[in-house]
Amino acid sequence: MSNIIQLKDKRFAVSIPEADILRQVDRVAAEINRDLKDKNPLFLSVLNGSFMFTADLMKRISIPCEISFVKLASYQGLASTGKVKEVIGINEDLTGRTIVVVEDIVDTGHTMQRLLESLGTRRPKEIHIATLLLKPDKLQVDLDIEYVAMQIPNDFIVGYGLDYDGLGRNYKDIYTVIDAD
Ligand code: 5GP
Ligand code: MG
Repeated sequence: MSNIIQLKDKRFAVSIPEADILRQVDRVAAEINRDLKDKNPLFLSVLNGSFMFTADLMKRISIPCEISFVKLASYQGLASTGKVKEVIGINEDLTGRTIVVVEDIVDTGHTMQRLLESLGTRRPKEIHIATLLLKPDKLQVDLDIEYVAMQIPNDFIVGYGLDYDGLGRNYKDIYTVIDAD
């Protein structure tokens, strides 16, 4: 496998190899297994970006739990639009439940904030956040993100579920854009 990939007009280089990702997924899973034992958490995986993280995370969750998938598209190209669509796909009754939102990346945090507002109206007991990636320098809202696999700089990344214009989700490693304009 090449360390450099080309997606449309951009080139990307491996920045976080799969083995490093999985070590951090191991750690986060252990924290959740410890913290949420006996709470029968409902994991809400935010599609599409978190599908690969969700699969690797859930294989390591050993406590009783449920999993469901939601969608909330807000992103086009290289920059966040700020526009966030509705949350779709929640068929479960969240009343009194312990929820764990599973996200690919928290950038400005607006997407997560919108999601938390929406979930909050469904009267869950508690909502926890698990994200594969966090760009701490970009965060604009006050969020309590308990489970963070990795913190990264502000550069645009793809792979391991994350895309550039629909491409790149299939790669097992994380890549960072080279020569972003
Ligand atoms: P936020 O609302 O936190 O600014 O943006 C969150 C969403 O922006 C993520 O769910 C993801 O879809 C997208 N995003 C933010 N940074 C990146 C990045 O570096 N690469 C990719 N592929 N998507 C990103
Ligand atoms: Mg996402």
